[in-house]
Amino acid sequence: MEKTLAMIKPDGVFGNYTDRIKNAILGSGFSIFKEMIVQLDEDSAATFYAEHSSKSFYSSLVKYMTSGPVLVMILEKENAITDWRALIGPTDTHKAKITHPHSIRAMCGLDSEKNCVHGSDSTQSAQREISFFFKDMFAG
Ligand code: ATP
Repeated sequence: MEKTLAMIKPDGVFGNYTDRIKNAILGSGFSIFKEMIVQLDEDSAATFYAEHSSKSFYSSLVKYMTSGPVLVMILEKENAITDWRALIGPTDTHKAKITHPHSIRAMCGLDSEKNCVHGSDSTQSAQREISFFFKDMFAG
């Protein structure tokens, strides 16, 4: 069974979307293997999104990701990585509302930055991100 890392970002937690997102997760055949609420500090948010360090939106992204608690979950399912990315929809919420109206980002995202949820985009990033939050865990 494949594992992926899902995160409800601060805007999703503040907006009270946690229950609706979990219902969508469970209703789509995922199980929640582990979950944890975390307050990211600047260092950890910067490390988590290090691949974007050269982008113009990086400092704003780090500020957003440290603006409140996030809920991180390990989701489990056949094809969990691809299927969770499909369920959350495109990065840009405005696009998501048009092209993927039933996606989670269409439901609760605000714009291209405050897009409510995160999902690992490959086997490698799932392993890295699961280990990042759940130190003794490895995807497999
Ligand atoms: P995530 O990695 O959070 O699942 P993603 O893979 O859909 O998102 P990435 O391109 O990896 O998108 O960007 C990481 C995050 O950086 C986005 O989820 C969003 O919060 C922020 N971001 C991406 N593009 C922009 C942008 N053009 N302006 C502002 N913020 C952005």
